Amino acid sequence: MSENARPTVVILATGGTIAGQGASGTQMTGYHVGDLGVEALVAAVPQLTDYAEIRAEQIANIQSSSMTDEILLRLSQRVNAVLEDPAVTGVVVTHGTDTLEETAYFLNLTVKSAKPVIVVGAMRPSTAISADGPINLLNAVRLAADPVAIDRGVMIVLNDEINGARDCTKTNTTGLGTFKAPEAGLLGYIAGGRHYFIKKTAMHHTHQTEFDVRRLKALPRVDIVYSYINADHVFVEAAIAAGAKGIVHAGTGNGSVHDDTLGALFKARDQGIAVARASRVGNGVVTEDCEEWTEAGLLDAATLNPQKTRILLQLGLTITDDPIQLQRMFYEY
Ligand code: ASP
Repeated sequence: MSENARPTVVILATGGTIAGQGASGTQMTGYHVGDLGVEALVAAVPQLTDYAEIRAEQIANIQSSSMTDEILLRLSQRVNAVLEDPAVTGVVVTHGTDTLEETAYFLNLTVKSAKPVIVVGAMRPSTAISADGPINLLNAVRLAADPVAIDRGVMIVLNDEINGARDCTKTNTTGLGTFKAPEAGLLGYIAGGRHYFIKKTAMHHTHQTEFDVRRLKALPRVDIVYSYINADHVFVEAAIAAGAKGIVHAGTGNGSVHDDTLGALFKARDQGIAVARASRVGNGVVTEDCEEWTEAGLLDAATLNPQKTRILLQLGLTITDDPIQLQRMFYEY
C-alpha cells in the first residue's frame, strides 16, 4: 500500500448479538441472535467509510454458543486469504460474545500475518436503546485501519477497551464491559477516537507460531471435563468413547483431580490421548503439581483457562502428540 492509499478493512461476519434483533428498544435479553446480515451491520454505521474502504463478507450467521470447528477453520482460512491481498490493511471479525474469546485465540494462533485482526461483538442487540454494536464496530474498524495495531496479535474490542485474544475472557453474562483479562490487564484504551496502548503481549502469536491450518479440513476432537465435589470417571470415559484425541480437565484449585477421576485420566493417557490439567478457578497458574501426574504425561495448562486450553491442545495435536512438545506450547503461546 502506498503511503497515501486509503486503508481497506475487510469485515467478516459470523453472527451474534451484534447482529441480533429484539421486539422493542428495551428488550436486552431473550432477543433473536444473528438476524442481520453483514450489509445491514455496515449500513448502520455510515461513519465506517470515514476511516476505511470497507469490504464485507458473511462467513456464518449463528449464535456463538453454537460455533463449530468447521466454521472456525473456514474463518481462519478466509482471514489468511484476505490478508494475503496487499491492498488489505486489516480484518474485523464480528462474533457473538459467548465463545468470542475462543475464536479470537484460535485466530491469534493461526493467522499468518502481522496485519491487524480485531474481533468484535456486542452485549445489546442492534434494536436496543444504546445498542453497543455500532460504536464497537466503528472502534474495531478504526483500530484495524491504524498502523499502531500491527503485530500485536489478535485483539478484542468492546466497551472502548482493547484486550489481547490470549488473556481476555468473558466475565459478565450481561454487562457491556464483560471482556477482561483479570490479571494480565488490557492492552489499551480507546478514547476520543485515539488508541492508547499500554502494553504488548509477551506470548508468541500469529506469524510467530508453528500452527498452519490453511489446508486443514478438520481439527482433532478435544473435550473438556469439569471437576466438582463427587466427580467420578463417567465424563472422562464418555470422552474416550467419543474418540477424543485430547481431554482438558478443568480441575479444582491448581488443576487438582478428584481421586475418583484420576484412574480414567490415566486410562486416557494409556490409550495415547493427550490430557491437560487446567483450572476452573479463572486466575493464576496451573503448575506441575504431583510427580505421579507428570510421569503419566499429564500436561499443565499453565495460564490458559479451560476453553483456551482446549483450543491450544487441538492445534498442538495437529502437529504432534509428544507431551514434551505439547507442554512447551503451553509456555510459549
Ligand atoms: N449472547 C451472545 C452475544 O452476546 C450470543 C452469541 O454469543 O452469539 O453475542
